[in-house]
Amino acid sequence: MRLRIPRCLMDGQRVTLPAADSEGLVAVTLQLDGARVAAIAADPQASAPAPLALTPLVEPHAHLDKSFTYSAFANPGGTMEGALAANLREFEQRTAEQVHERSERALEQAWRYGLRAIRSHIDSGGGPASEASWQVLLEQQRRWADRLTLQLVALVPIRFWLTPEAETLAQRVAAAGGLLGGVLGPPFGHRSSDALALRALLQLAARLGCGVDLHVDEGDTAAGLGVALVVRTALELGAQVPITCSHASSMGLLSAARCSRLAEQMAAAGVQVVALPRTNLWLLGRRSGQTPWLRAQAPIRPLQQAGVDVAVGGDNVQDPWYPGGDYDPIELLRLCFTTSHLDPWQRQGLAPFTTSPARLLGLDWDGVLRPGCPADLLVLEANSWQQVLARPPQRRVLRAGVWIAGAGSGSSDALTAVPS
Ligand SMILES: [Zn+2]
Repeated sequence: MRLRIPRCLMDGQRVTLPAADSEGLVAVTLQLDGARVAAIAADPQASAPAPLALTPLVEPHAHLDKSFTYSAFANPGGTMEGALAANLREFEQRTAEQVHERSERALEQAWRYGLRAIRSHIDSGGGPASEASWQVLLEQQRRWADRLTLQLVALVPIRFWLTPEAETLAQRVAAAGGLLGGVLGPPFGHRSSDALALRALLQLAARLGCGVDLHVDEGDTAAGLGVALVVRTALELGAQVPITCSHASSMGLLSAARCSRLAEQMAAAGVQVVALPRTNLWLLGRRSGQTPWLRAQAPIRPLQQAGVDVAVGGDNVQDPWYPGGDYDPIELLRLCFTTSHLDPWQRQGLAPFTTSPARLLGLDWDGVLRPGCPADLLVLEANSWQQVLARPPQRRVLRAGVWIAGAGSGSSDALTAVPS
């Protein structure tokens, strides 16, 4: 199979390769042996066009329990308050059947679009909807295990971790191999109890050996307040489990000097970040009837420069927090080229979609090609990054050495054959 593959997705220690082109792509031939890559060599016809290929991507932040609910629970004003209110209305009537239908559709699309792992938060504040969502998604985790890794995070307001129910939920999540989460800051605002609640959460997580993934500073005021609290508390307690700050949007409004200082402290505390620009750009910086001028999003580059691992996620898909999206990682990559200046021809531009989320989720495979690695590819009908950016490319997905049938609502013709 003749392909052009980003240099940063090839193991330079194990494969001798020619130099990359101006877009960081290397012309190679891949030989497969069943479900594994047998050999990788320089393409003798390097000057002839060949499809651009990636390894399947990783979605580090989703909400499978509420996907595709926008039409019934709309938020036409596009505000945080409107999103929260609609989400709560939906949660009150959520059933197991609905969660099954939503998650099945989401996983099917994600798999066919070329995702290999998803971390999903689950509304876990209590009641029948929480119970149903966990039961269904744990079952989905088992059903989908040979196609897609699914990690689950308990999402509650941070103050929940000070209530008597905290221990029970944490025990159940730990027994299921999940992560503990919480919302620190908007839309709930910063409260005096936040520090205590966060401390309780981190102590509980350390005792039970659960990773932590917080929704923190999803706002355009109080710049970096929640992230700073996470870092202080993690350093004080000596963080013993992986901690992820999802969003960290208002941190992007700090001055360059304060932003770098905080980023360095995050690196020292081992705190990772999942940036979610799409939802942030829709919900934040709203001024009724005006054009936004404040575009709060995680400061991806300063974080990377400080040594913080940053992944980019799609977050909400057709729910009250964002009416669009489709679990298509290539569309997210195309969007972030513009919104976040993540140039895919740079290692640090592509890593947030590939190797960084693989590391953040602790996946067995880092997504880098070397002999013996999984025969898993996302092959695009484009010969260059510029063509990928020009228009949504058609694609084929190879998993364990087998091409899977294309699908995806609204783009059923988007996955037709490319030369192999
Ligand atoms: Zn989220």
